[in-house]
Amino acid sequence: MHRCRSAVLMGLVCLAATGTSRADSGTAPPPARELLRELVEINSTHAHGSTEAARALAARFLAAGFAPQDVTFLAPADHPSKGNLVVRLRGRGSGRPVLYIGHLDVVEARREDWSYDPFKLTEQDGWLYGRGVIDMKGQDVAMAIALMRLRQEGLQPARELIVAFTADEEAGGDANGVTWLLETHRGLIDAQLVINPDGGEAGVKQGRRLYVAVQTSEKYFLTFGIETTDKGGHSSRPTAANPIYRLATALTRLAQYRFPVHLTETTRQYFQRRAELETGQTQTDMRAVGLGNADQAAIERLSAVVETNIMLRTTCTATQIEGGHAENALPQRARATVQCRVIPGESPDSVQAALAAAVADPLVTFSTITPATPSPESPLSASLVRQVENAVHGLWPKVIVLPEMSPGASDSRFTRALGMPSYGIDALFDDLDDGRAHGRDERIGVQAFEQDVEFTYRLMKALGGS
Ligand SMILES: [Zn+2]
Repeated sequence: MHRCRSAVLMGLVCLAATGTSRADSGTAPPPARELLRELVEINSTHAHGSTEAARALAARFLAAGFAPQDVTFLAPADHPSKGNLVVRLRGRGSGRPVLYIGHLDVVEARREDWSYDPFKLTEQDGWLYGRGVIDMKGQDVAMAIALMRLRQEGLQPARELIVAFTADEEAGGDANGVTWLLETHRGLIDAQLVINPDGGEAGVKQGRRLYVAVQTSEKYFLTFGIETTDKGGHSSRPTAANPIYRLATALTRLAQYRFPVHLTETTRQYFQRRAELETGQTQTDMRAVGLGNADQAAIERLSAVVETNIMLRTTCTATQIEGGHAENALPQRARATVQCRVIPGESPDSVQAALAAAVADPLVTFSTITPATPSPESPLSASLVRQVENAVHGLWPKVIVLPEMSPGASDSRFTRALGMPSYGIDALFDDLDDGRAHGRDERIGVQAFEQDVEFTYRLMKALGGS
């Protein structure tokens, strides 16, 4: 147990114990590492829920001197284990609040798959191992410490700062905290601006820190079933109407179909800035795309690489297939699942129409298996980018800030869909060639963690305003 846990009763004793020499009125936050250990060692997988972690954090905020009315624990009545915590640092009321969101739940991890116990924080050779350290308990700790430090300093920000630690992001589950808070307690977390480190990215390649992303948007996903049927019959009397062949032809046409290039304000800037990290032809091609004057050859080269192709256009791909009912019967049905990842601004109907036109067979029918929840791109604000650049360059002068559209989804889709501009910003540097989120031996660098704690504090302070 943390030595400051008892600080609710003995604030001054705790202040002395943590060795702070400041003559301010606030209580010092606990060491970041200690808070990370506490969170990692509380199992918050889908089966366990996030309530225990949310309550442990609440105790820490109270121990750090936050008033009980500013530390709100909330759980849905029908899902008491899916608790959320909303903490606020009151501002001077100039402007609407800034909201940080971070999920507390983690993906399941089994001891036998890991080199270490995933639910213990283990330090080894400059790394901290444990489930959730990069996704996203490390960032949760950074947000908590930042808010505690700001309170300790006693400087009231211009805008209120709110941090919501939420349930059930990973499972895409029945009690997603962001959705639930927006539906039932919108007033508690309503904000002018949302920062979600989960949607951000800080990339390292071969030991070199490259960029910190400002994620303004996410591709949304949408899943179609495509199907064709026939009356069937005996396999000794084959016909040209065999649905398996018909579906195979349709899928071959889909495999050859490419959606047109669709750049957004964000992806245009992404290519311009990303070019700074490249050399040779790729650099030239990216610059041309960013400036809007790429020729077909440049588009072809960038489309041949998965990482850049997915930034250029909507993509759809077959993911499952089934058909036929007996080895000696003509099939009566063949069906494929096709999943699309769509650039914000394109409608689900336009995507289906493009696929149907590519298939060009009226006997192949389309249905929606999983409908879309589109969310718009948040405007790429120059002043926000500048604030992020100031915080980044203060710690890493050579790292670039990269506007980004994520190919995957985060909780920001819910806040964006309700008109709250949301940005994924995360400075916990992670190796782009060794992603371990959701996988075995998830880890973060000791130094990377310490620096992210500092970065988060600096950016939060800047966004709060003085
Ligand atoms: Zn996450």
